[in-house]
Parts: sequence; C-alpha cells; structure tokens
Amino acid sequence: MARRTKIIATIGPASEREPVLRDLIRAGMDVARLGMAHSTLEENAERLSAIRRIAAEEGRPVGVLVDLPGPKVRAASFGDDPVVFVEGAAVQLRIGHLRSRAAVIEVDYEAFFRDVEPGGRMSIGDGRVILQLGDRDGDRLSSTVIHGGVLSGRPGLHIPADRLSVSAPTPEDLHAVEFFLEHEVDMIALSFVRSAADLDRLGTPPHPHGPLVVSKIETAAAIADLTGIIEKSGAVMVARGDLGNECGIEVLPVLQKQIIRQCISLGRPAITATQMFESMIEGPEPTRAEVSDVANAIWDGSSAVMLSGETAVGIDPANVVATMARVARHADENFDHHGWTAELAELRLTDAADPGTSITDAMTVATARAVEELGIRTIVCVSGSGFTVRSMARFRPSARILGFSADERTVRQLTLSWGTEPIHLPEDGEIDLRVIEALELARDQGGVEAGELVAVLAGTDPTSRATNELRLERIPAPA
Ligand code: PEP
Repeated sequence: MARRTKIIATIGPASEREPVLRDLIRAGMDVARLGMAHSTLEENAERLSAIRRIAAEEGRPVGVLVDLPGPKVRAASFGDDPVVFVEGAAVQLRIGHLRSRAAVIEVDYEAFFRDVEPGGRMSIGDGRVILQLGDRDGDRLSSTVIHGGVLSGRPGLHIPADRLSVSAPTPEDLHAVEFFLEHEVDMIALSFVRSAADLDRLGTPPHPHGPLVVSKIETAAAIADLTGIIEKSGAVMVARGDLGNECGIEVLPVLQKQIIRQCISLGRPAITATQMFESMIEGPEPTRAEVSDVANAIWDGSSAVMLSGETAVGIDPANVVATMARVARHADENFDHHGWTAELAELRLTDAADPGTSITDAMTVATARAVEELGIRTIVCVSGSGFTVRSMARFRPSARILGFSADERTVRQLTLSWGTEPIHLPEDGEIDLRVIEALELARDQGGVEAGELVAVLAGTDPTSRATNELRLERIPAPA
C-alpha cells in the first residue's frame, strides 16, 4: 500500500537548488512550502516555476504552498553560521534589520517597543532560546538568557498576538497574495489568524477559483473562533511553534487533537507542523520521541505532516523527507481504518441546511459503508474542485482514493489530501464521459486491474457542488 499521509517540506537555503528539489520530490515531498521570511517574492516565484517544471519531468503532481508571514516578528539575520546563546549571558534587543549577533539582537519590527512587555519572558525560535526581559534604555532593551540554545537564520520572536498592534493579513501579506494569484499558486497559508473575519480580508477569489486558503492556528483567539475559521478555510495548519508560545506547551497535545478533529468533521485537511524531526536539522536520524510524535499526529487524523527547518536549513533535506516517508508509511499501515470510519459517521458536522454539503455528506457515508461491506479496494472520485475527494478522504478508508479533476490546480491541491492519488482528467464535460475516462485512467495510470469492482463518486448537477451519485462499476478491459 502506498503512503497515505502527505508530506510538506519547507524550501530554504539548504533545498532551493534544483538537484535538491528533485531529490525532495523523489524522496516523497507532496507539497513544497515557500516562506517569505528569507527571500523576495521574485525569488519565490522562480522556485515555484522550478518546482512545477521538475514535478512535470518527474511525472508527479506536487503542490506549492505560499506561507504568508503575517505579523510575525523576526530577528535580523544571524548570518550563515548558527550562534550559541549561553545561559546567564546578557543580550540587548534593538530595532533593526541588518544583522543580529549573540550580544545584540536586531528586531525587524518598528512597533517592537510599543508591543513588547518589559519584565516579561520572550521565546525566540519556537522556544530554542528564552530571554528574561529587563528595562528599556534609550533604543535598547536589556535581557538575560534563561534558557540557552542555538539560533540561526531569522528566528521569530514571540510577542503575544493580543499585544501586537498589527493584525493578519498585513499589507505585505496582501501584496504577496496579489503577486502569487498571478502565478496561480495552489495554496496560501495565513499566519496569526485571529478570527474568521481575517480570512475575508485576504481577498482571494472563493475556492475553487482561487487557491486553497490554509489557516494557521497559532493564537489563543483562533482557538476561541475555531469552527468559524475552519468553515472559511480550505485547510488548516496546527502551527505548534507559535501556538505553544501563546497557549503553553502543556496544552499543545490536547489542542492538536481538538483542532484536527474539528477539521476532520468539516472535511478540511489538517496539517501538523513544527519540530517534527527537529533533531534532523543537524543529525542523520530523528529521536525516538520525534518518530512517535509523527505517528501519533497521523493517528490523530493529520492529512499532512510538515517539515520546517529540517528541510529549509538542515544538513540533508532529502534524507529527512525519505525518513519521514518511511515513518509515515508504517503509521499508515497500522491505522485503524474500520474504527475511524465508524466513529466519523457519528461525528459529521456539515450543515444540514446546505444541500451542497449535506448531500455530499450522506453520499460519502454511504460510500464508506459500501466499500467496507463489499471489500472494494478503490474509490474513484470524479471531482471539479476536489470537495468530493476531501469529503471522502476524511473517512480514512483502507481503499485507495483516486482523485480525478479536469482542473490542473485542483489536481495539485489534492496533493494535500490524505490518501489521495491525484490524477488529471484531460476532458471536462458530460459526466458519463468523464466517468468512463476516469475508469480507463484508473486502469492505465492508477494500476487498477480490468474487471475490478470500484466505487465511483461524482456530481451530475453542474449547478451544484454536491456529489449526488454513487455507482459501483467494473474497470473496463482495454479496447
Ligand atoms: C509555527 O509557528 O508552528 C509555524 C508553522 O509557523 P512559522 O513556521 O511561520 O513560524
């Protein structure tokens, strides 16, 4: 059985060259994440087109996710070499964007002194270094290292979201959205979402005309408006770095399970992110605890697991992805499909008043049941926007899910959906013809044997996004 859980890898200085990008795709990267913190829009657009070209050469759909920084406060660069912070050392903080050093960290945020709370603690680089803040003296804030560690690149400095004077999306985010809409980007992630209204301000065309919008859940306010945010999102990221700073690390495991469960019930892919294989930034193998974390995130219901610094600045990005693929495949093989499907049939939360979602809901439950009862091994989803595929994937069937769409961007977006093998349908048009074409492609590209009984899910009403048809068909013999 192929791996079902998807892998997102962040592209950075260690992985931006074309041979490394190719190795990442070969090792199992399903989605490439482009961050804005370390490169310009134009540099990222070049990466995007390189990834698309290499993915086409490799014959594999690869999605591209642009991660907007939001009001993320970052240090100016520490340069190429990691800098060690020793417990008890004095560090000064000042506003600037040129260069950070062990003794003076420049903070690339004009409102820093207005928003920061003197006397409090500050986490840098997702908890790698913790400072005890002292008093302000002119243009500097004194501090002492109370938890030492190593920082590199442009690490984030955590200021609680409710103290930040800038909210998401920032003007820079909106500029980047406009830029990447031109490049038909597949997915856009919004950082530091605080409410469903933040997503309205993003101004992307509603899906499927625009990209899939991924809400990063990393503020206490987002937890309070979770259902509203998920309903407005195409997918969700459990951004454990900043969420841990905001809510306390001890509540992270519970929040991770709650967020993923809500996503599953509403049919949105959930991404679990941050420090999954952190030790592989410098080492050849993850710790045993990290391996368990990844497997448990998969058993919680994550559609995708994400790599950040491990592939952006780590010593061997392709080895990290290959290791993640191995760990994920083994967790997938030990997934309790039957228990999950039964539980989910109870958990559905789709809006009964909305025929689009409630009809699809009923049809995917029926499919999950038919597949189990008849021992069907393949589900053929003929989809326009990918909605049918995502709705089916949340049942975590042991059967393969082949996700067909005539829209190339939808095919790339399906790289994020659990268990889905995306396949491009050359023809758009009358549903019977699309189903025949999908069955033939399932045989020719998907390796499904002629004569095998498969479940076909499709929508026959072009005016509605509802999936209103379930057929049980046999794969035709080649002509
Ligand atoms: C996080 O905070 O966990 C996260 C994924 O966001 P970023 O990497 O942008 O800090």
